[in-house]
Amino acid sequence: MKARIAVLSGDGIGPEVTYEAVQLLSRVGALYGHEFVCEEALIGGAAIDATGDPLPRATQAVVSRADAVVLGAVGGPKWGTGTVRPEQGLLGLRALLGTFANVRPVTVLPALAELSPVRADRLAGTDLLFVRELTGGAYFGAKSREQGHNGQGIVATDAMVYSEAEITRVVRMAARFARGRSGRLTSVDKANVLETSRLWREVTTRVMRDEFPDVAVEHVLVDSFSMLLIQRPTAYDVVVTENLFGDILTDEAAVLAGSIGLLPSASLGERADGSVVGLYEPIHGSAPDIAGQGKANPVGALLSVALMLRHSFGLEKAADAVEATVYGVLNAGARTADLTTNGAFTTAAFGQLVRDRLA
Ligand code: NAD
Repeated sequence: MKARIAVLSGDGIGPEVTYEAVQLLSRVGALYGHEFVCEEALIGGAAIDATGDPLPRATQAVVSRADAVVLGAVGGPKWGTGTVRPEQGLLGLRALLGTFANVRPVTVLPALAELSPVRADRLAGTDLLFVRELTGGAYFGAKSREQGHNGQGIVATDAMVYSEAEITRVVRMAARFARGRSGRLTSVDKANVLETSRLWREVTTRVMRDEFPDVAVEHVLVDSFSMLLIQRPTAYDVVVTENLFGDILTDEAAVLAGSIGLLPSASLGERADGSVVGLYEPIHGSAPDIAGQGKANPVGALLSVALMLRHSFGLEKAADAVEATVYGVLNAGARTADLTTNGAFTTAAFGQLVRDRLA
């Protein structure tokens, strides 16, 4: 198989972890007989410095002709909060690709369970897959500010909007994942209060009944779920939810894993011909406090390569091998600086070890 990959490493530790991801991809290609042609382009602060634009036209062109996109991270104190900001590059990229679902696996390794603030006996066996809707809800509804009456001062509004079509496509995607895993799907909403959540629950119930009768669906209110996620994380498998709830719950879930540097993500959409559009990135930011010191944990970026192999290219065997190797290396005791205070591997040494062990 031959595929073209856009590589946008961005700012801070972005280039360090993305370099390891690209090296791993090249090793996978050599081992399994695939050709991954990587084309680099600027995004975020690095793109602002070079061109004044966080998502330059040249980058858009590279992304548009790619089969999948690998991203590092964007942002940092250098670029402040002015009118042109690195984060605009990321939002523009997601809009350009039309990715509507953010997929975030959260797997807790027994060997790392002591790093989490949650008790190890509750964490053992945690293996979650969050599917967060990415293009609707309060983040994209109409926003306004107006002068209120009777001493209210200014009144601000964020409209929370969802259509049946938006809910259907993300629930379908989550249900397909559930079918391939435990056959269970948890849908999180706030149907006792919000109209968008009542529609969410109706549509989810209909889609699951009509199209996925083999997958068991459970509806949980978001306030309750935020507690249950910490109390009994092993009770859940695939979780689907709307944009705002997903934003908060996936950060809460990241705490279970022990370090933000460990988690990958995929933002997925569909082209007109039905093929998958995928943007793959670790969940962490640019970590300016440790940039350039070889301290960054590359695991989130390396596991993002596994997600790309699986979701964009259907290379399940190679994806499984990458995951098994990364987990094997961690289980054998290799630790980057975020995971240990002594004998830490540098970013490059950890990446090399994974490549050496990949069979
Ligand atoms: P961050 O994720 O960059 O860092 C939070 C903490 O975690 C820091 O102490 C950092 O050193 C540590 N950390 C993060 N990734 C790590 C890794 N791979 N290995 C070891 N330690 C790691 O979040 P922040 O500090 O809030 O944000 C820094 C910048 O990143 C900001 O400009 C923010 O806007 C941006 N950001 C970008 C993205 C993205 O590009 N997707 C996401 C979040 C934040």
